[in-house]
Amino acid sequence: MRILANDGIDLSAKLMLEQTGFQVDTEHIKQEELPHRIHEYDAITVRSATQVPKELIDLAPKLKLIGRGGVGMDNIDVSYARSKGIAVINTPAASSLSVAELVFAHLFSGVRFLYDAQRRMPLEGDSAFARLKKSYAQGTELRGKTIGVVGFGRIGQEVAGIGLGLGMNVLVCDLHEVPATLNVSFPNGIEVAFPIFKREFHELLKEVDFISFHVPYTEQPLLGREEFGMIKPGVGIINTSRGGVVDESALIEALDSERVSFAGLDVFKDEPTPSQDILSHPKVSLSPHIGAATVEAQERVGTELASLIVSHFKNLKESEQAISQ
Ligand code: NAD
Repeated sequence: MRILANDGIDLSAKLMLEQTGFQVDTEHIKQEELPHRIHEYDAITVRSATQVPKELIDLAPKLKLIGRGGVGMDNIDVSYARSKGIAVINTPAASSLSVAELVFAHLFSGVRFLYDAQRRMPLEGDSAFARLKKSYAQGTELRGKTIGVVGFGRIGQEVAGIGLGLGMNVLVCDLHEVPATLNVSFPNGIEVAFPIFKREFHELLKEVDFISFHVPYTEQPLLGREEFGMIKPGVGIINTSRGGVVDESALIEALDSERVSFAGLDVFKDEPTPSQDILSHPKVSLSPHIGAATVEAQERVGTELASLIVSHFKNLKESEQAISQ
């Protein structure tokens, strides 16, 4: 069995697959060359870079599985692949903690003005040290503050867990029912069940000091001009979900009028060319869509993908044997 890991795969996952008898090619084949090579493979794994459209699937007579390391499957024609009996799998939970930790990187940056200090210290740190020190002297702590988690799925729950661990109050909002409690794990096997408090979105906006978004892509912004009118003044906004969930023009207005004190953005409406107004805004903490990009998440993505591939081909073999008997 040959697997093409076209967007790379963690070394531990490659070894796991090879030990189970698969041949794993990690050479990246360019998109335009894939139609000439895809027929060689029984499975292909991709991340977000490689596209697997209908036309490519039609050129892959041996293909039995398409694996996506990560969450979104916009780059794969999932329904067409499944209609041809090809399994399509992904690893949605493997990077949730990494995204949640990035939320807190932006939050800590926000409440202590690190995003601004990092820009100004190289330019003015030697000539205006005392002035900068004074301008960042009104930082705040996270403990005791309230974070609103919008979207209480995999990542939202990790964010809530970290917030609770830090001693924050957590209010959550979701379209669906949420669990009554959240179990949060600490070192030495300690696990604590925290009660979960749910609010309607508009109620949550009025009560929280920070809002963090963890919903799927939305056609219309969830946080638009009208909603910015409802928030508690001075709130900090974090978006690591999808660009467009927060209206960027309305956000800039809210930052300029000090209704919002800072924003932390990992995702942007016009990726990969976000608006200059957002990129250059002095009250925005920025990262280039790196929520899932940690060593640990890549390892988990790889090993989860490898286990799913191994068990899929094992099940396939067993059912083929059962039919032939
Ligand atoms: P999930 O499906 O586990 O959770 C999403 C939750 O949002 C669900 O509980 C759903 O019911 C809820 N929801 C949907 N629409 C809502 C709405 N209008 N109001 C309130 N709740 C709503 O998804 P997840 O794995 O937690 O991922 C969340 C987001 O994070 C996705 O947009 C995903 O693309 C993004 N993400 C970003 C990165 C990154 O690198 N920044 C990495 C992974 C995922």
